[in-house]
Amino acid sequence: MNMIPAARLLAACALLAALLPMLTLAGCKSNDAAGPAAHAPVVSAAAKAAAQMPDEDTPPPEKTGGFDGKRAFADVAKQVDFGPRPSGSQAIAQVQDYILSELSSYGCTPDVDAFTAETPAGEIAMKNILVKIPGDRPGIILLATHYDTKKIADFVGADDAGSSTAVMLELARLLCAQRGRYQVWIAFFDGEEAVNLQWKDPDNRYGSRQMAAKLAISGDLAKIRAMLLADIVGSRELRIKRDANSDKMLTDLMWTVAKNLGYSGVFVNDPTAIEDDHQSFSTRGVRTVDVIDLEIPYWHTPQDTLDKISSKSLAVVGHVFVESVKQLQAK
Ligand SMILES: [Zn+2]
Repeated sequence: MNMIPAARLLAACALLAALLPMLTLAGCKSNDAAGPAAHAPVVSAAAKAAAQMPDEDTPPPEKTGGFDGKRAFADVAKQVDFGPRPSGSQAIAQVQDYILSELSSYGCTPDVDAFTAETPAGEIAMKNILVKIPGDRPGIILLATHYDTKKIADFVGADDAGSSTAVMLELARLLCAQRGRYQVWIAFFDGEEAVNLQWKDPDNRYGSRQMAAKLAISGDLAKIRAMLLADIVGSRELRIKRDANSDKMLTDLMWTVAKNLGYSGVFVNDPTAIEDDHQSFSTRGVRTVDVIDLEIPYWHTPQDTLDKISSKSLAVVGHVFVESVKQLQAK
């Protein structure tokens, strides 16, 4: 995913502010300059080991609509154990097997769409995974994440894309046991990351573009009532801003849910603008919302490791998704 230039400037400002706290940063909003990048604690080995465990104050599933933040944390750890997982790698094949076996163990019946993407590095074999939970009516509520990681040396992508993949697995575990008014589909996209270092269309979003095109042909695209995308949702100081490229009504729905659950410190009202998998669907007329915190100091660096992930943050995001799906089911 990517931020459009104005938002990228804010992120750069946040980073600069962390590095150069004494300087006045012309053009940077003061509230953005005090973001998570401002805190870079030196962590001892013992503290680091402890940080690779779920948070003790993670709310239990009975307080988060059944969503188990500690289970989701374990799903992040499992993905990180496979190492860097770019599209076409051996490690991503292991992740695919892992996702499929987890989904089957929850009683979900996943479909796999294997396709070949034309990339600047040549043809790459990719796989989208899609869970379809039946409903009483034909409408579809689509939940989605990507599961590939950016091809960067030593990049294990705990937050990008381990965290959102774990959230979607945990949602599948909960929702595959339920039948609602509408169908719930849960998509795991391959190939979200640009193959080149820079994010430049069409070198990105290979999986979501493939799925949107396929669903347009089958006629299912027109049945999608809402698409809720998660991407980078695991950080310890999670702050999810309202994305200008998302549908306003859907954004209002999720942010109101979050506020009513007491999470307005996580789902904040500051604006941002994000380029991500939701755009493969929104450009085709689907109402979408992207839940993402792109202003993490370790974004696309080898520091995106398990110790950055908070099981509490995963639980908060999972809870908001569970309750948002409930509201969409009632409409
Ligand atoms: Zn990324």
